[in-house]
Amino acid sequence: MKIGFIGLGIMGKPMAKNLLKAGYSIVAYDIVPEAVKELVQAGAEQGESSADVASKSDIIITMLPNSPHVKEVVLGKNGVLEGAKSGTILVDMSSIAPLASKEISEKLAEKGVVMLDAPVSGGEPKAIDGTLSIMVGGPEDVFKKVEDILKKMGASVVHIGEIGSGNITKLANQIIVALNIAAMSEAMVLATKAGVDPEKVFEAIRGGLAGSTVLNAKVPLVLQRNFKPGFRIELHIKDLMNALETGHEIGVPLPLTSQVMETMQALKVDGKAKDDHGGLIQYYEKLAKIEVKKQS
Ligand code: NAD
Repeated sequence: MKIGFIGLGIMGKPMAKNLLKAGYSIVAYDIVPEAVKELVQAGAEQGESSADVASKSDIIITMLPNSPHVKEVVLGKNGVLEGAKSGTILVDMSSIAPLASKEISEKLAEKGVVMLDAPVSGGEPKAIDGTLSIMVGGPEDVFKKVEDILKKMGASVVHIGEIGSGNITKLANQIIVALNIAAMSEAMVLATKAGVDPEKVFEAIRGGLAGSTVLNAKVPLVLQRNFKPGFRIELHIKDLMNALETGHEIGVPLPLTSQVMETMQALKVDGKAKDDHGGLIQYYEKLAKIEVKKQS
């Protein structure tokens, strides 16, 4: 069995490497040749295009930025649909609009290709460790066929429901993460401007009800002024846009999400779109004219 892997960025590269380590044969492709070279050095076969990868694979995994990229790679010229044979499974692990997952899967079905949407949570460190949380939509029998492969990349692999439900779950995840980062930012700016050491605040509250994975992951980075991504603000803007559009389509107002979206837009205007999303704190710091950092 051969697995095609398309999209070797911050997340895709370590995920594909974990599959190689687990003994799977991989054919890899990205529009960035250096990324492909790195995978070839780790033992993968070089793919020449998405169609080439599809023609050589039984299962194809895509890990791309957003819906337009997945549509281009799967349905576009020299894309997966051109190369894939009937019976091939496409597992799109990108975080994209749930409606786009449905549209792509319908087009693929015309050629007998089946699709799962399987976005992930956990970021680069968990992609490297192979401990991502993976949320999967699509037919259950297809999920069963790829479950073991997904478990080589994730510590938690949950089948949610029909195609698109993986990405609905991911949108819920991204709303919670964004709002948590915003809450952490407001609180840490308040504490710092009041003259209290933010590191002590973190130490004191992390074990209580305010404690969270977001707090544990982001406060230490903020204290070091480390906003290297990780997960770029521009990607979180993309996820919140997909959440807002989906909410509007199905009749769910998202007032808090829309507020955090605008703070992220302000940072983008300020040239910080490529910062880690923990860099959201810089918006609140600018309003309060204070910087949250390690004090000793
Ligand atoms: P990234 O921008 O680092 O990687 C995307 C890769 O896709 C790049 O290497 C790019 O060259 C490649 N690509 C783009 N268009 C292509 C095409 N037409 N053909 C072939 N390759 C193409 O992004 P990332 O951080 O790896 O994120 C990927 C997905 O995972 C996104 O949907 C993101 O929202 C999601 N995600 C990211 C994180 C994170 O912490 N970075 C966490 C969870 C989920």
